[in-house]
Amino acid sequence: IRTMATAPLDSSKLEICRNQKKSQPRPNNELVFGRTFTDHMLTVEWTAEKGWAAPQIKPYGPLSIDPSCCVLHYAFELFEGLKAYRTDEGKITLFRPDKNMERMNKSAARICLPTFETDELIKLIGKLIEEDKHLVPQGKGYSLYIRPTMIGTSNGLGVGHPDKAMIFVITSPVGPYYKTGFKAVRLLATDFATRAWPGGVGDKKLGANYAPCILPQLQAAEKGYQQNLWVFGPEKYITEVGTMNVFFAFKDSKTGKKELVTAPLDGTILEGVTRDSILALTREKLDPKEWEVNERYYSINEVAERAKKGELIEAFGAGTAAVVSPIKAIGWQGKDIEVPLLPGEQSGALTKDIASWIADIQYGREKHGNWSRV
Ligand code: PMP
Repeated sequence: IRTMATAPLDSSKLEICRNQKKSQPRPNNELVFGRTFTDHMLTVEWTAEKGWAAPQIKPYGPLSIDPSCCVLHYAFELFEGLKAYRTDEGKITLFRPDKNMERMNKSAARICLPTFETDELIKLIGKLIEEDKHLVPQGKGYSLYIRPTMIGTSNGLGVGHPDKAMIFVITSPVGPYYKTGFKAVRLLATDFATRAWPGGVGDKKLGANYAPCILPQLQAAEKGYQQNLWVFGPEKYITEVGTMNVFFAFKDSKTGKKELVTAPLDGTILEGVTRDSILALTREKLDPKEWEVNERYYSINEVAERAKKGELIEAFGAGTAAVVSPIKAIGWQGKDIEVPLLPGEQSGALTKDIASWIADIQYGREKHGNWSRV
C-alpha cells in the first residue's frame, strides 16, 4: 500500500514541543510495570496520499480520535515492547531495537498498516528518551520500558485498508519483574483455548491477539496457576507460556546428554527477541559435548513422560519483561508435573546462568556484537 511518491519516515524532520512540567524520578521501590509514564511521547501521522508526516515529540497526554475510527472497531493495532537500560557507566542503551522494529514492520504489513524505515524510528525513540533521560532508573533490574504502537486512524465504518495511520511511542520507568529475585511459577497446560494456529497471526504482535487470552488466564488462576502453557493441536505441542516464549531442558538418562528445546518459528508463536538471544548465547557458551540446543516440536506428553523418568531438569519462560521466568510445576490432566529447582532456590542452574548472561549485556558489563545501541 505504499507508493514511491509518498514521504518516508524521516527523523530529521522531528519537531519538539517540550512539556512545561518536569517530573522528578520516583523512588525505585515505587515503580510498577506500565503504570506511570514519562513527560513526553512521540507521534507520527501517516496518510496514504502523503506518506509519513513530520514526527513530533510532545507532552504525554490523551489522543483525540473520531468514534468511527477503524482502530476502535476492527482492531487495526499493533505494538512492540523493548527496554532502555542505564549501564554502569551511565550510558543509556537499547537492547537489540532492530529486532523489534523488524517485527513491528511485519505486524504492520499483515494488517495493511504502513511500514516504515526502521532505523529512523530507532533514532526517534532515542530522541524521545533523551527528553526524559533523568527518568530512566538506575539499578539491577531497573529500566525504561518502551511501547511503540501503530494504529489505523481512518474514519468510517467500512471494512477496508486504512488510508490514515499513526505511530505513537510512550515510555514507562519499570523495576525488576521479581522484586526479591526469581519466583518460580505454576502453569496450567491449556488445550481448552487456543492462542494461535497455523495460517493465523500468532507470530505478529497485534493487540487483537491479547484480549482473548485473558479469560483462559483467569480460568487458570481459579485453579491455582499463574499462567497458561499453550499447547496446540492433537499432538499437544507446547508453543508459548502466557506472553512469553518457553524453553525446556532435558537430560537423557542413558547418555547423560542434555538438551535445551524451544518450539520452532512456524507462524504460531511470537518471534521473541529474548528467545533469539537465548538461542544465540546458549549455542555460543554451552559445551556442545554436554548440551544440544534445538528448535523443534515437543509435546506436553513428552514433557510428562520425561518428567516421570527424571529427565526433565529445567523449564522457563523468556520475554522482555522478566527476561527469564522459572517454572516449578505444570498442571496437566488433573495432576502436576513437577520441575526440579536448585535446592532452596527458585530456578535451575541454566536458567540462572542465562539470566546473568543477558543482564551483563543489557547493563553494559559485557559486549555482544551490536546488541546494545547507545
Ligand atoms: N510471546 C508473546 C505472545 C509475547 O507477547 C512476548 C512479549 N513480546 C513474547 C513471546 C516475548 O517476546 P520478546 O522476547 O521479544 O519480549
